Amino acid sequence: MHMNLTNLTIKKFQEGLKNKKFSVFEIAEEYFKHIEKKDPEINAYISLLKESALKKAGEADIKKAKGETLAPLTGIPLAIKDNILIENEITTSASKILENYKASYDATVIKKLKNEGAIFLGKTNMDEFAMGSSTENSAFKKTKNPRDVSRVPGGSSGGSAAAVAADMAVAGLGSDTGGSIRQPASFCGVVGLKPTYGAVSRYGLMAMASSLDQIGPITKTVEDAEILFNAIKGFDPMDATSQRLTTDNLQPTTTKNLTIGLPKEYFIKEGLDDQTTKAISEAIESLKKAGIKFKEISLPHTKYALSCYYIIMPAEVSANLTRFDGIRYARIAGRGSQTETLKEIYFRQRGEGFGPEVKRRIILGTFVLSSGYYDAYYAKAQKVRNLIRKDFDKAFDPSAGGVDVILTPVSPTPAFHFGEKTDDPLKMYLSDIFTIPANLAGLPAISISTRPMENPPVGFQLIGKHFKENDILEIGKLYESR
Ligand code: GLN
Repeated sequence: MHMNLTNLTIKKFQEGLKNKKFSVFEIAEEYFKHIEKKDPEINAYISLLKESALKKAGEADIKKAKGETLAPLTGIPLAIKDNILIENEITTSASKILENYKASYDATVIKKLKNEGAIFLGKTNMDEFAMGSSTENSAFKKTKNPRDVSRVPGGSSGGSAAAVAADMAVAGLGSDTGGSIRQPASFCGVVGLKPTYGAVSRYGLMAMASSLDQIGPITKTVEDAEILFNAIKGFDPMDATSQRLTTDNLQPTTTKNLTIGLPKEYFIKEGLDDQTTKAISEAIESLKKAGIKFKEISLPHTKYALSCYYIIMPAEVSANLTRFDGIRYARIAGRGSQTETLKEIYFRQRGEGFGPEVKRRIILGTFVLSSGYYDAYYAKAQKVRNLIRKDFDKAFDPSAGGVDVILTPVSPTPAFHFGEKTDDPLKMYLSDIFTIPANLAGLPAISISTRPMENPPVGFQLIGKHFKENDILEIGKLYESR
């Protein structure tokens, strides 16, 4: 059997399976064949889960043959970022310190997807502990952008985005702390959704910065992002920040009366490259033709978002990563001398186990939290975060003629070349300038590729009100239907 995997979406898979166009096993096998051919060049995966995937696929076919009802996502082949735990599978966060760490339980999102029948093809490459914007910070390999292999796939969920873009999975999961789902989706010409903070359980996600992290889908279409989001969302007692949704949040939206705001601070000429400006203007025109109203708005504290993020995020990173001492979770091969003290063990394990970017952030975070500097940096950044949040509240306030959704670029430039920004961390950090505010404010945001696809691809971002994923998804579907 030879299948065209390029056009296969979750939706089409479901239809094909129903109409007996293929079996679950055939599709899974086809994906592994394609991965074995393609991934030596792209390097999207850190590890493959072939045996368990094919076994599950076979079991699903038997169930189907017996006439049993199948769970909605039965057989959907997914790529999972390697900071999300799958029980009994190696989960590394692309770090040497976790090289041989085997997860002892399923993340809540994995448990939900297993219950829905999905199949996991493998664990994908990423920047170490999700710190980076190009996947170049992985301790293991460099993932290439399938649309142009001389360029980075974006990061930190570069492996999942590349796997979906190169047809090595129907869809995938990533995590987003400052843009790590949306920016790689944009660079690879696919769709990435960062849900509202609290919409999806983070239980079983290796924490980077806990007040910002969210898990979300990376897919080929907005429709697929919606399907996957609906499968993973919901309250979870294991994550204290997860929320119970009210019925109002679940109301379906019609795009008819929605107004989109264009924040002037995001469209400053000097910061934005020409190809990006042009592609996004065309996307706006297309939505205008579809009847969507636009309005200029202001988010005045935008200019502080990046600095604010680079204080709060490392502070949380430095606390979250203390647990990795080389003794718990994983053990780096090779022992020190018999007389090594506990402190020496920690120094050696963390010294050898963490890469330079992770160390930089731990040091930065420890500094901004230290007594004497706490008020000057960390406490101040929290206040600024509040101002950024209030900017959005005001822009969305219906009683002040506010908008329903905000449209912005995802990144100031399309995918850059390998090594272009690795020497200058600040340059790398700047590529997240448009995605970070949604994390600071906890808002849902989606990255959608402009059509026809540019080379390299360009994405635009839709930011919605808290728990109003429906609004951005509906506008996204409207755009893709044109
Ligand atoms: N690129 C950003 C950073 O380096 C965002 C990372 C993320 O969202 N995980 O922090």
